[in-house]
Amino acid sequence: MDMTWKPYVHDRLITQHPSGFYVIKPAHSNVTSQPIFCPVCDNIMRTIYDEETYKNFQCCDECANSWVYRDIERWKSGWRPSKEALATKVKDTKEDLAISMRKEDI
Ligand SMILES: [Zn+2]
Repeated sequence: MDMTWKPYVHDRLITQHPSGFYVIKPAHSNVTSQPIFCPVCDNIMRTIYDEETYKNFQCCDECANSWVYRDIERWKSGWRPSKEALATKVKDTKEDLAISMRKEDI
């Protein structure tokens, strides 16, 4: 999918989507995008706490409570929980929450 951005009026960029419509965005923006799903556990990011935690640790609040705060320096150095540990945690979380959504559910 070739979407080459070109300069547009009022300090914006424009590109044409392969489907035919145009997309316009600010050329410079301080807004950082946040994923819909936590990059660590794949649970949906749904609260203001998830948003705040993502800014600091690039994960959801649940992951921060489960993994980050145990050893923040280890987390900052790049350590992440194993797939086995995550699978166990996800199973427990699903049983705790009445409503939950994961990337694999869609
Ligand atoms: Zn998470």
